[in-house]
Amino acid sequence: MISTAPDRNGVQERSSDVWSYISPSRLNTWLKCPIAFKLRYIDGIRSPTTPSLFLGKAVHAGLECSYRHKQVGVNLEPSDVIQRLDACWEALLAEDSMTFASNSDEIKLKQQAAVLVAAYLAQLSDEPAPMAVETTLEEPLVDPFTGEDLGIPLLGIVDLIVPGEDGAVVVDFKTAAKSGPPTEKVHEVQLSAYSYLYRATTQQLESGLQIRSLIKTKKPKIEYREYPARTESQLRRFFQIVRAYLDDLDRGRFVHRPGFGCTMCDFSDGTCDEG
Ligand code: SF4
Repeated sequence: MISTAPDRNGVQERSSDVWSYISPSRLNTWLKCPIAFKLRYIDGIRSPTTPSLFLGKAVHAGLECSYRHKQVGVNLEPSDVIQRLDACWEALLAEDSMTFASNSDEIKLKQQAAVLVAAYLAQLSDEPAPMAVETTLEEPLVDPFTGEDLGIPLLGIVDLIVPGEDGAVVVDFKTAAKSGPPTEKVHEVQLSAYSYLYRATTQQLESGLQIRSLIKTKKPKIEYREYPARTESQLRRFFQIVRAYLDDLDRGRFVHRPGFGCTMCDFSDGTCDEG
């Protein structure tokens, strides 16, 4: 069964023990740099939420509100969604202990969230009711090719599942400063993880996957990337990655991976030199 119970915050409150579950974000962080993974998920070093991350969270909250109403047959106007987002703004701030440099920065970001949500809803107004919204999926990781149970669950929060022509389409929302490359590999781990979870939960194949990006350009843009159902070789690769990750965890071996990624890393202030 697909559960529509909590959710992103529920996951944050779960044990931070790296052996309690694997998630696409843990895998992706480890792939980018194992030492960054260790600092964040084992040593527990967390950076304060940035305005950009908070904008993503606020936009997600607005879209979730709209789709949850749609799921029960209520089509909210964009202005209603923005009003509801406004009403839960303080709670969203409190969840992340989010602060702004100035009042005008906060107002600007709130307006940006409203504009992005309105642009998205204007473009997607005739979409059918979703099958699931912000749903937490958790399944034991059992290699479909060998039958081996890896002894740890995979956990993911799927933003949206919508009916497609040949079955369910699994959707993820992103906010971005500019259009991303169409390269599927950028999203491969996440797409394969969601595909595995969907199939293990429903015993059905997904008909496809989508990344819907809300681009924060002056005139906001909504960009769709559609990807076919995952292939056997993509899922094989996914399990190879999971095994390599578990090997590192087993051995407590986390190497530095200096490179271009360091320019966007929270630990580039020297924290990682001591890691
Ligand atoms: S600064 Fe570079 S090497 Fe250090 S943790 Fe970040 S990505 Fe890894």
